[in-house]
Amino acid sequence: MNALTVGDVVAAFDALYPPEWAEEWDAVGLVCGDPAEPVRRVRFAVDPVAATVDEALETRADLLITHHPLLLRGVHGVPATDHKGRLVHRLIRGGAALLVAHTNADVANPGVSDALADRVGLRETVPLRTADPEPLDKVVTFVPHSDADRVVDALAAAGAGAIGDYTRCAWTTTGTGTFRPEDGATPAIGSVDRIEVVGETRVELVLPRHRRAAVVAALRSAHPYEEPAFDVFELAPLPGNRGIGRVGVLAEPMTLAAFTAHVARVLPASAAGVRAAGDPDRPIRTVAVQGGAGDGQLGDAVRAGVDVFLAADLRHHPASEHTERGGPALVDASHWSTERPWLDDAARRLGAALRVRHGELGATVDLSVSDLITDPWTLHAGQPLHLDPDKEASTTP
Ligand SMILES: [Zn+2]
Repeated sequence: MNALTVGDVVAAFDALYPPEWAEEWDAVGLVCGDPAEPVRRVRFAVDPVAATVDEALETRADLLITHHPLLLRGVHGVPATDHKGRLVHRLIRGGAALLVAHTNADVANPGVSDALADRVGLRETVPLRTADPEPLDKVVTFVPHSDADRVVDALAAAGAGAIGDYTRCAWTTTGTGTFRPEDGATPAIGSVDRIEVVGETRVELVLPRHRRAAVVAALRSAHPYEEPAFDVFELAPLPGNRGIGRVGVLAEPMTLAAFTAHVARVLPASAAGVRAAGDPDRPIRTVAVQGGAGDGQLGDAVRAGVDVFLAADLRHHPASEHTERGGPALVDASHWSTERPWLDDAARRLGAALRVRHGELGATVDLSVSDLITDPWTLHAGQPLHLDPDKEASTTP
């Protein structure tokens, strides 16, 4: 059968949201599924729960991609008597793999909070908290001219020379190398006790620091000399464009009351609705957003000097202390509502990546997004407030 495999789709997805970008405590990647199995349909959902798994199987998806992990803490078994184990059984029986991109999707650019910022209409967005960029090294070596291309190929194959969308990037200059082989040496060029002068190419490439050992091994193996001369430099870090949350500006300023209504209108609706903390007439122009739980980013929002912070799951004490200190206004939407927009983005990016990588075959994969609301809160009752001072005491608890 001529179809892409789970492995092909996972590779394309991992290139967009590399698993190594995930936090150490996180559990991302393939949860169940066989990389050799074919994939015709991919379904996206925020949560791997019974409803989204059932829906994925009903739509005959071969792969379910979710934002939240199914198995986050230590797992010693997946018996069907456990609600999570049952989902694993159901997925495997139904022939569907499960893939998770959680904090690696949060810090990506574009990532989860970009999709949220887009819905809200933010412009000129930058990360609310910049992720540490991947540390880079530079390797420099000196090879006889005729071997330079081969050495560049070997270094590139080991992971050096990738810059953005370009690979096998190298800089070369020519010069003269000199050495005297001593007793015991078996030189590729020259002979023992005679000073040798060789026209050499200086080759330099960048590499991710975690590839250092592999690149040095490739250099030693591809270089014709018994003792190749080379340097490895650690490069200074530059500010990255990846990170948690986003900060941006609205096209037109509006009041907090209007912004709250705007958020409720543009985000996918859920039972919990949208609530806000702050003066309803406060003018809002700069906005920080965080897809998912936002307590941890309250301090970042203050430092960013924004007018409002939009996130989910803002708890009583952090929110109360934040407002007492006079921080930005807060808008709290449901967790699912703030992360659901990313699914469209992820599906679109995966589709484009599959078409680029696999041409016609990539276009045969059907990508769809679940609109099942998987917030645990399913009912909401508004409580009228008696704010008229002439009336009896307020009923605000
Ligand atoms: Zn989340």
